[in-house]
Amino acid sequence: MPLITQHTAADIPERRRAVNADIFVSEGAICDMLDHAEKGMNENAEVMGLLAGHVYRDDGGYYATVSKAVTSALISDEVSVRFDPDDMVTLFDALDNLDFEYVIVGWYHSHLGIGCFMSETDKSTHKAAFGETGFAMVIDPMKEEMKVFKGSADGTTEASMVVLEDHTQMA
Ligand SMILES: [Zn+2]
Repeated sequence: MPLITQHTAADIPERRRAVNADIFVSEGAICDMLDHAEKGMNENAEVMGLLAGHVYRDDGGYYATVSKAVTSALISDEVSVRFDPDDMVTLFDALDNLDFEYVIVGWYHSHLGIGCFMSETDKSTHKAAFGETGFAMVIDPMKEEMKVFKGSADGTTEASMVVLEDHTQMA
């Protein structure tokens, strides 16, 4: 996966969060990711996509909001997934068509029945593409489980998530 965005502390706008969580995700984005993961499950394939939203910081460190999950054609099977390099234009079109200013705050992908965790491959993908400020959502539609992870100095750690009913609340 190409390097899409990497933040340095100076780039991240300051904005105080009302509730203490690492990532705030719109219900619409959650539904889209769950639908996508379920569709993949029916074809016995993992799925993935990108999380579009904003990154902010306050006294507690940085956090992100996610308004939309976007994806494109994938090359995937039961245990691996990547974007189809011949269809990156769909991904960029999906990003271009978003009606708000965004940054790519991370990515999501699914696991089939093995639970939600970051594999060694997931960790190196995450580090290469998103570094320490990025988030990784892992969904296991077979176990009906969803977890989110954030980059840390020594890999990734589990992050706390709040689901918001409507992305207009997130600004
Ligand atoms: Zn994985």
